[in-house]
Amino acid sequence: MKKIIVVGGGPAGMQAALSLVAEGLKPVIVERSGALGGKLRDWHNLFPSMTPAHEVLEGMTKQMENAGVEVMLHTEVEGLTDGGVLLMEGKKLEGEAVIVASGFDIFDARLKEEYGYHIYDNVFTTVDVERMLNKGEVALHDGSAPHGIAFVHCVGSRDEKVNQKHCSKVCCITGVKQAMEMRQLFPDAEIYNFYMDIRMFGPGYEELYQSAQQDFGVNFIRGRVSEASPTIDGRLQIKAEDTLVGRPLKMTVDMLVLIVGMKASSSNEKYALPLSSSGFLTPRDLFSGAVSSDLPNVFYAGTATAPKTIGESICEGSMAAEKVSEYLKSRK
Ligand SMILES: Cc1cc2nc3c(=O)[nH]c(=O)nc-3n(C[C@H](O)[C@H](O)[C@H](O)COP(=O)(O)OP(=O)(O)OC[C@H]3O[C@@H](n4cnc5c(N)ncnc54)[C@H](O)[C@@H]3O)c2cc1C
Ligand code: SF4
Repeated sequence: MKKIIVVGGGPAGMQAALSLVAEGLKPVIVERSGALGGKLRDWHNLFPSMTPAHEVLEGMTKQMENAGVEVMLHTEVEGLTDGGVLLMEGKKLEGEAVIVASGFDIFDARLKEEYGYHIYDNVFTTVDVERMLNKGEVALHDGSAPHGIAFVHCVGSRDEKVNQKHCSKVCCITGVKQAMEMRQLFPDAEIYNFYMDIRMFGPGYEELYQSAQQDFGVNFIRGRVSEASPTIDGRLQIKAEDTLVGRPLKMTVDMLVLIVGMKASSSNEKYALPLSSSGFLTPRDLFSGAVSSDLPNVFYAGTATAPKTIGESICEGSMAAEKVSEYLKSRK
């Protein structure tokens, strides 16, 4: 039996492989890093249920071991071929079908120079905060506790200046979740979230947003932060406009958290398939063809095509496996 190649071993790719096994097929996951899990490996507690990310990852990894899924680590896919994929050093891997589940990249916050990421101390991204939460080390550069924390929404999303026009969808809820986690860690801190719009599309998200304000005392300010700069006493001054009252605003905080967006993966360009204006792979259509490409033997799963939650990415892994099975049957 020829293999089904799954490109990427994040949540979407792992679920695609598990569902292929359930369909009686033989998947091989090709993963460029040294471990399975994708971004899940870096996250702490997952919205909306606050389930520890390591529990979800361990559960999926165990199922993969029990199912005997073949995994090629440290192996990057460089492109598609007629009957499979091209690997590094010109090697080819043959397969009857390919599921592209190579995920997304994190927006590089250094491109928004005005916020001072990697220039000033105590400017972090939401990714840094997840990692600090995992280590149990959320603190300022000198190890002290912050008294004032500001989150900036839409960093590297909905922003034509950095060629990222799309909404990254999961970052409003990530900002709300992290603001609540900060409140638990620093009960006396002032916490502000600066937003353009609050987009709470998922189950339980609106409730979390309400609770962040009413029970956790997080202040939501409608306005975009224009710049951050250091003060003489080592704090950060931010300038913004409160667009609800139409007034400019200056504020001094200890910690600035940039809520970075989901950017299309640089891997997408390797497949020579249609891309959206933001660089995500374009599915055949957005209804029954949401996990199908323009090629009959190539399928998509997860955030390779658009920003999605983990639950949505996992769901697409199963859908793509089902479409592979239908495709193979249709050839008989
Ligand atoms: C800060 C932040 C916090 C988040 N928190 C949550 C949360 O709490 N709850 C939630 O539901 N969602 C959350 N998300 C969204 C979540 O991370 C995604 O939904 C999920 O990671 C998508 O899974 P994926 O498999 O599509 O992609 P990824 O997780 O990106 O996995 C893709 C995999 O493909 C591999 N790969 C890439 N290119 C190649 C190649 N050419 N060859 C081989 N391998 C390749 C990568 O190494 C990676 O392992 C968060 C997102 C961000 C930015
Ligand atoms: S989800 Fe929220 S923070 Fe993220 S891009 Fe959309 S509006 Fe901005």
